[in-house]
Amino acid sequence: MHKDIVTRFAPSPTGRLHLGHAWSAMRAHDFARSHSGRFFLRIEDIDISRCHPEHVEAVFEDLRWLGLDWDGEVMVQSQRMSAYAAAIAALEAKGLLYRCICTRSDIAAAASAPQGPMGALYPGTCRRRAVDADTALPWSWRLDTAAALAMTGPLAWEDDAKGRIAADPALLGDAILARKDAGTSYHLSVVVDDAAQGVTDVVRGRDLFAATHLHRLLQALLGLPSPRYHHHRLVVGSDGERLAKRKSAPTLAALRSSGVDPAELVENMRRARFPVGFALEEE
Ligand code: GLU
Repeated sequence: MHKDIVTRFAPSPTGRLHLGHAWSAMRAHDFARSHSGRFFLRIEDIDISRCHPEHVEAVFEDLRWLGLDWDGEVMVQSQRMSAYAAAIAALEAKGLLYRCICTRSDIAAAASAPQGPMGALYPGTCRRRAVDADTALPWSWRLDTAAALAMTGPLAWEDDAKGRIAADPALLGDAILARKDAGTSYHLSVVVDDAAQGVTDVVRGRDLFAATHLHRLLQALLGLPSPRYHHHRLVVGSDGERLAKRKSAPTLAALRSSGVDPAELVENMRRARFPVGFALEEE
């Protein structure tokens, strides 16, 4: 059974990888290898304005430097737009999507927009005013979460550390599934691609725990299997701030040019030991 384990590392090439990425990639890699499973790589580059080809090359270089070898072909999201379009069409056919023309400032200005775990919750303005298909304004597709939940009924996912978690996608409100500029979104692409890569175990940072509520709902709506989830702690700097949030976290390339031995770095990380100034966040 263990032979079937499949994990993945799915960075967005918006910059160079840092220690937090190395830790996450190592966790996914080691989980697969310790079960004689497969470890895949996926480049999450749907945000073309923020992703750069040289960062994609650098991902390969950095992972090779760390000695974290991946299996098979690398999946590249910008080449998979037809798979995302098919998923959107399937959800649309179920009547679960609506067009949204709101801008960020419209949403911020709406008095009724409370904060959710992943940002402001959409106040539902466009759900209540059917937006015409031929509107001249740029629009995105949003999920009608209440209608979707009414269709699926209660859902749960398996979390490695916490056991069975009841999915509560309403925490994220009516999320955007296809952005105005991208035709897809992080949430939709990740769900479609984890299934396409046969991922059995999603190993990723705790910062994405809340997203899993929505991912579980999308899996149910699209008839896709639900992997097990391992949400690991994140790496923080000496100020306690997560590297992912920093403007200038030290890159793996910088560690490499300062003469760090990658085998030693990875061995230490396996014991949860990090270079001076870095640590795992509190439990
Ligand atoms: N591309 C996402 C990131 O770099 C990770 C997605 C995931 O692991 O689900 O934060």
